[in-house]
Amino acid sequence: MIKAVGYAAKNAHDKLGRFEFQREEPGASDIQIEVLYCGVCHSDIHQVKNEWKNTVYPCLPGHEVVGRVTRTGTSVTTFKPGDIVGVGCMIDSCRTCDPCQHGEENYCEGPNSWLATYNGPMVPAKKAPTGENMYGRDNTFGGYSTVLVVNEDFVLAIPAGLAPDAAAPILCAGVTTYSPMKHWGVKAGDKVGVVGLGGLGHLAVKIAVALGAEVTVFTTSKDKEDDAVMLGAEHVLVEDDKKALKPLKGTFDFILSTVPESHDVNPFVALLKRDKTLVVVGALEPLKPVNNMEAAAHRKSVAGSMIGSIAETAEVLAFCAEHGIAPEIELIDIEAVNDAYKRIERGDVRFRYVINMASLRA
Ligand code: NAP
Ligand code: ZN
Ligand code: ZN
Repeated sequence: MIKAVGYAAKNAHDKLGRFEFQREEPGASDIQIEVLYCGVCHSDIHQVKNEWKNTVYPCLPGHEVVGRVTRTGTSVTTFKPGDIVGVGCMIDSCRTCDPCQHGEENYCEGPNSWLATYNGPMVPAKKAPTGENMYGRDNTFGGYSTVLVVNEDFVLAIPAGLAPDAAAPILCAGVTTYSPMKHWGVKAGDKVGVVGLGGLGHLAVKIAVALGAEVTVFTTSKDKEDDAVMLGAEHVLVEDDKKALKPLKGTFDFILSTVPESHDVNPFVALLKRDKTLVVVGALEPLKPVNNMEAAAHRKSVAGSMIGSIAETAEVLAFCAEHGIAPEIELIDIEAVNDAYKRIERGDVRFRYVINMASLRA
C-alpha cells in the first residue's frame, strides 16, 4: 500500500481537514501520480455538504488534477515517469455498455455507471439493479491529496503549451462546457449566451469565443462586467431583468446555464431562436417548470449535459493549447481551502481556485 495524505470531511457539517490514508499499489495498467495541482470545483462543495444527498464519507474531493507520473504498471504503454498528466471526474467505467463502446464513458449505462474520481461509483450498490458494485469500491478519494493511482485509460496527457496549474480546471470546467458546445454544434458566427460567470462560465466564454461565437454573459454580479469583456464577451447583462431581455427574444443559437442551483430557465428559453437549445450544466436537480407553450411554439429544447468523455477531454486540452486559452486561476495552499469554499459560495472567485499540493507535502 502507498501512504497518502489528503484533505477530507468526515460529515456534511465538517470542514475539510488533514486525513491520512492508503492507496492501492498500481496494478499492471495503472499509473501512480504525484499530485501537483487540483482545481476547486463548485461540485466539490455540493459533495462535501451532501447537497446532492449521495455523499459517501469521508469525502475527499478533487477532480481537476494535474500531476507527475512517478510509477507505471508493467503493461502501461501510454505514459512514463516524469510525464505531466491530468485526471478529471472519472477514473473508470464499465467499458462494455453502448455509450462506453462509443467513447462516451461519461454516459456509462453499466450497473454502477462510471467510477467517479471521488465519492465512488455514480450508481452505488444500493441503487444498482443487481445490488452489486462492479468496481469493488464504495468510496474513492480524489485529488486534494498527495498521490493518485489511476487506470491509464483515464489519464490525460497535458499538452506542453499549457501551464500545469492553469491546465487543472480544464479537466472538469473546461470539458463540461466544451462538450455541449460541440454536441449542439456551436460554430463561428453563432450567438451564444453564458449564464453565471464562475469557474465553468468563464471557461465557456473563452471556448465559445475561440469557436468564433458572439458571446453574451448573463451575470448577477455588476462587478463582473469588465471581467466578462476581458474574457472576450461582446455583451454583458446584469441580472435577468425583463426589460433588458425583451429585445433579445428569439436571437440566440445556444445558451449554457452554469448557475449552481435550481433557477427559472424561462427567461432564457425565450431568448432562443427556433429549434435551438438551452443546456443546463450547473443545476443537477429539479428545475422550475418550463413554460412549454414557449418551447413548443418555436420547437426549442431545454437539455442537460454531464461532464465530457475522455476523448473530449483530450480534445479540449488540445483546443485550449492551440488557442492559447488558460483558465484564470488563483493558486492557494491547502490550508486555505475551507475559506475558498466560502468565497466561491459568495461568488467571490476570479475565476477558479487551484490548490498547490506542495503545501500538503510541506
Ligand atoms: P461557481 O464558480 O460558483 O460559478 C457559478 C456562478 O453562477 C457564480 O459565479 C455566479 O455567477 C452564478 N450564480 C451563483 N449563484 C447563483 C444564483 N443563485 N442565481 C444565479 N446565478 C448564480 O461554480 P462552478 O464551479 O462554475 O460550477 C457551477 C455548477 O456546475 C455547480 O453547481 C457544479 O456542481 C456544476 N457542475 C456540473 C457539471 C456537469 O457535468 N453538469 C460539471 C461541473 C460542475 P454570476 O456572479 O456571474 O452571477
Ligand atoms: Zn467539477
Ligand atoms: Zn459503460
